Amino acid sequence: MPPQSDIHLDVIVIGAGISGLAAAIETALSGHHVVVFEAAGGLHEIGAGIIITPNSSRILKRWGLSDSLWASTTESAPLAIRSYTGRLLVSDGDFCKTLKERYNAPFAFLHRIDLQTALYARAKELGVGFQFGTRISNVNFETGEIISQSGVKTRGDLVIAADGLWSLCRAHFLPRDFEGVPRPTGDLAYRVVLTLDRIEDPELREWIANPRMSMWIGPKSHVVGYSLRKGTELNLVLVTPDDLPADVSRQAGSADEMRALFKNWDPILNRFLACVHSVKKWKLIHRKEMRRWIHTSENSNFVFVGDSCHPMLPYMAQGANSAIEDGAVIGRLLLHIQTKYQIGKALGMYEQLRKPRGDAIVKETFRQVSRHTATHSRRSTADIRE
Ligand SMILES: Cc1cc2nc3c(=O)[nH]c(=O)nc-3n(C[C@H](O)[C@H](O)[C@H](O)COP(=O)(O)OP(=O)(O)OC[C@H]3O[C@@H](n4cnc5c(N)ncnc54)[C@H](O)[C@@H]3O)c2cc1C
Repeated sequence: MPPQSDIHLDVIVIGAGISGLAAAIETALSGHHVVVFEAAGGLHEIGAGIIITPNSSRILKRWGLSDSLWASTTESAPLAIRSYTGRLLVSDGDFCKTLKERYNAPFAFLHRIDLQTALYARAKELGVGFQFGTRISNVNFETGEIISQSGVKTRGDLVIAADGLWSLCRAHFLPRDFEGVPRPTGDLAYRVVLTLDRIEDPELREWIANPRMSMWIGPKSHVVGYSLRKGTELNLVLVTPDDLPADVSRQAGSADEMRALFKNWDPILNRFLACVHSVKKWKLIHRKEMRRWIHTSENSNFVFVGDSCHPMLPYMAQGANSAIEDGAVIGRLLLHIQTKYQIGKALGMYEQLRKPRGDAIVKETFRQVSRHTATHSRRSTADIRE
């Protein structure tokens, strides 16, 4: 039996995305009673891939997630970076292996639904309660009380806000934060998943079945592709200038429109795109850095995790990985609580440990933008070779 806290706090988590589930698992492992309130009627990760890097896969391994998650994970894939025309710029056959050996944890490609389902199952196993279909509409930062849209009040010793980029908690926490409203970055992502059973072209089938990570860098755009679920699906993310209306953050896209944007790119990429029937368009959005991630008062009892406090551009694949780190850190600090009066101290330590790192990664994702496009083609290629 792992060590547990001497007291049992009632902890409320708002949001059952990756950050909320991560915080719930580690907090429950520390011996506290956790209930997650989720607006959606069930788990609702989108059907797409996610890259899990060693900083978080190490944590996921420690949590003892189901074997079926690891069985469906792609952990070994060579890396190839190409110019948009298809010319090979960099390749590394041992990319995943080297990272795994260096950090003693896998660099892996997962299906988001598989990851979220495994986290949920582990949280349930640890006794975490879930209230789906419960949208929280207000939070009292002094008392730790939350109010649902239907007017039900619940009080906890600690509230963990894990309600994502459009966080209601953040809006209530910083009601006059006019500069911190979600803003477009100027890019959008087309997200595509192709399944092997719908592809006949033998060369494309071979690309998917023998997992690899591919990246194409072109004018103002880039594409990342990798295999999922042991080489039975291909995930593609195509980042390109945002042409969605200002008030639309996501919508179904047109496969023909996407193909037209990439028609001069690598022929093999175009053969994959020819297999696409439906595609989603996501505006890439950022928010200004928050000054505090915790509510500081005598009864400090409120903390942010994940996209609610540090939404990130996907250029370093760190949004969910950082969210998993957040959950692990806040939950582990709560292991050392001996009285409720120490919650404030734990939250202060959480903020000290996590905020500089989270804010630094956000800044670095913006620096990566120029490396992922050929707007400055000479520099990017040289940077990649370094
Ligand atoms: C194109 C793209 C590719 C990406 N690729 C990667 C990658 O490879 N690796 C990586 O680490 N990251 C990646 N990311 C980032 C990653 O997806 C996010 O950082 C991560 O999913 C955020 O998780 P979260 O739990 O904080 O927020 P969310 O996933 O947004 O979850 C928030 C949850 O809170 C619920 N909620 C919201 N409001 C309320 C309310 N009022 N009451 C109750 N519930 C509420 C929502 O329904 C939702 O379930 C990518 C992002 C994009 C856009």
